[in-house]
Amino acid sequence: MAHDPYRDFLRALPPESIVQRRVSLAPFTTFRIGGPADLLVRAGTPESLAAAIQAARSSGVPHFLLGRGANLLVGDQGFRGVVIRSEAPPEGDGLGGIHFLDEVTVRAAAGVETFPDLILATVERGLAGLHHYVGIPSTVGGALWQNLHFLSPDRKRTCFIEEVLAGAEILTAEGERRRVGVEYFEFGYDDSILHHRADVVLSADFRLQPAPVEELRAVIRSNLEWRDERHPDLWLYPSAGSVFQKIDGIGAGRLIDEVGLKGHVLGAAGIFHKHANIIVNLGGARAAEVRQLMDLAQTTVARELGYDLVPEIGLVGEF
Ligand SMILES: Cc1cc2nc3c(=O)[nH]c(=O)nc-3n(C[C@H](O)[C@H](O)[C@H](O)COP(=O)(O)OP(=O)(O)OC[C@H]3O[C@@H](n4cnc5c(N)ncnc54)[C@H](O)[C@@H]3O)c2cc1C
Repeated sequence: MAHDPYRDFLRALPPESIVQRRVSLAPFTTFRIGGPADLLVRAGTPESLAAAIQAARSSGVPHFLLGRGANLLVGDQGFRGVVIRSEAPPEGDGLGGIHFLDEVTVRAAAGVETFPDLILATVERGLAGLHHYVGIPSTVGGALWQNLHFLSPDRKRTCFIEEVLAGAEILTAEGERRRVGVEYFEFGYDDSILHHRADVVLSADFRLQPAPVEELRAVIRSNLEWRDERHPDLWLYPSAGSVFQKIDGIGAGRLIDEVGLKGHVLGAAGIFHKHANIIVNLGGARAAEVRQLMDLAQTTVARELGYDLVPEIGLVGEF
């Protein structure tokens, strides 16, 4: 009988784990692009997430931790290994992984989606702090990885999710499950310790401020309108948001626009006509086409303006 490279991994998983073989990853990303994972584990609780990661580590199989898939481009050949998807717990478990610890503190499992689930649950209770991030696709774990951010209501500064984070439970790179404070994460712009250590967020606590619900709803409306005017609608134009990092405070979109590539189409992928730092899937785009567009933007901006664009999105698997 042929040797199954995943036998040890599957044996190390708790028996109730949900595992699928050769599953296309495209539906699990906001780009809706990407080939199959050899194995996909659906981890719907902090316990199952920790168990799947431990099983992958102990059996030595290549693995990737996936959240909402909103900041990634998965290759057309998919991922040779195990993709562990951090998902929200079933509704039966309280509010689906969302628990209020006191009047102003909420604990959310890593796989809970910040929008709509966590934001709606907190806004309904008249709690401010997470409402700034309305309309941004993310899990709680992905939000900490990235230090999720958006403009303040007066658009004068950037709000970061670290401002309302009280602490988190993590599985450390060394395999220890423990609670850490906000300072542990060493947050920066689009950065946290999670980029530099293989720690996994299992759940996070947010300390919010009481505020009139109507005030919060006004900010939500205004932020959604702001996004509507500038960003592609994910249903019409699947994307992974901004593709390249800012350079010395200059938006990459401005540079790509300046070299005339706004609206440029290659196969079924295009540089979005309203925002040149976003590449959109016009229907059936391949990862290879997105990569070619990224290369074109990088070489043209370097040649004509002398700036080196650095990707902000993660490239996962085989291209
Ligand atoms: C239309 C659109 C608009 C966007 N607008 C914004 C914006 O305004 N502001 C902004 O900040 N971002 C924005 N983004 C980017 C994206 O929403 C964020 O990066 C988001 O936080 C990604 O979360 P995720 O769950 O999808 O993570 P994924 O994309 O699935 O994963 C990203 C990384 O996080 C890691 N990760 C996931 N879960 C965990 C965990 N539990 N523990 C440790 N690491 C983990 C993954 O391994 C991976 O390396 C936008 C994206 C889109 C598509």
